[in-house]
Amino acid sequence: MPDYLAEAQELDLVAWRRDLHRHPELGFAEVRTASIIARHLSELGLEVQTGIGKTGVVGLLEGCQPGPVVMLRFDMDALPITEENATDYVSQSPGVMHACGHDGHVAIGLGVATLLARHRNELSGSVKFVFQPAEEGMGGAMEMIKDGALQGPRPDVALGLHIFNQLPLGQVAAGEGPVMAAAERFHCIVTGRGGHGATPHQTVDTVVVAAQIVTALQTVVSRNVDPAEPVVVSVGSLHSGSAFNIIAEQAELWGTIRTFDEATRQTVLRRVREVVEGTAHTLGASVQLEIEELTLAVVNDVAASARVREAAARVVGAANVGTQQRWMASEDMSYFLREVGGCFFFLGGARHPSEFPHHNPRFDFDEAALPQGVAILCDTTASYLRGA
Ligand SMILES: [Zn+2]
Ligand SMILES: [Zn+2]
Repeated sequence: MPDYLAEAQELDLVAWRRDLHRHPELGFAEVRTASIIARHLSELGLEVQTGIGKTGVVGLLEGCQPGPVVMLRFDMDALPITEENATDYVSQSPGVMHACGHDGHVAIGLGVATLLARHRNELSGSVKFVFQPAEEGMGGAMEMIKDGALQGPRPDVALGLHIFNQLPLGQVAAGEGPVMAAAERFHCIVTGRGGHGATPHQTVDTVVVAAQIVTALQTVVSRNVDPAEPVVVSVGSLHSGSAFNIIAEQAELWGTIRTFDEATRQTVLRRVREVVEGTAHTLGASVQLEIEELTLAVVNDVAASARVREAAARVVGAANVGTQQRWMASEDMSYFLREVGGCFFFLGGARHPSEFPHHNPRFDFDEAALPQGVAILCDTTASYLRGA
């Protein structure tokens, strides 16, 4: 096996990442990013398809012998945030920032493609590079799947990673089973009867109803779910009323539900509906509730995650590789992993314990994580394609 870490440390990963960081692009608008990727993959001799899922790029690297197909997925999009860092690679686009580390993921993807292309004569099988647009809640993975990203050839295993600031640099977590949450968005409109603030008995006060709904929803997690099972029900937005002396006719709530386990998810979806509708009806209001699926849980295959951990142990040392880390955020890697078993792992990126979190205007990560990510993915892929 080549020393992929030593080779990765010789690549221009930092320069690639900083260039992408200076020029962030929002979901489905990753035109510059996609063209850099397509050019790089073409120069390496890969077969490249662009426009897969609007701005997505797929590259196929054929080894020297037939064998399995390993898919490697990297997301490319930035977030609608104005960067507040003062680095010399700060975002040049006001209101757009790589605040989740996807610039790092693209740089890692370019690095993996470079090294595996260099070693293609040692690979039995092929590597499908999937550079995905619009991961941040816009459904880029589904768009790529609809456009055939998983066909011709169909992958046997899918791998992906996220730079992760809840872990220090040099640590890796590759858990088994669910590692990131399923996410739903719910929207609720409560309708009562408006009136004078001094004559509440002639009204159905939706401010009171909405307040009761928010309070009652807290019992779903605390009273209906196994305490050992992580679940979140959050109301993020609540609007009602227009003046101090008018009882509001309508109230509107938005919220989110996060779960790992599918049976628990079904229980929570049912209880949220029962609690919202039951509370509104008890207080004489009518209610319309829509619950929309955003993403499934990211669920890792046991064998694939063990293989990632073996590779990670060779790169960062066995003592720095764990299985426990879970992230309550969502990731549409889940849709690839529903179709093709595999592993999505977390690559520690924090320089110090108080590092700013993902999606913060001062988010940044330690670029020493980049060659580690390249080496772990190269090593894992090579382990699948070592041949007989
Ligand atoms: Zn993000
Ligand atoms: Zn992300």
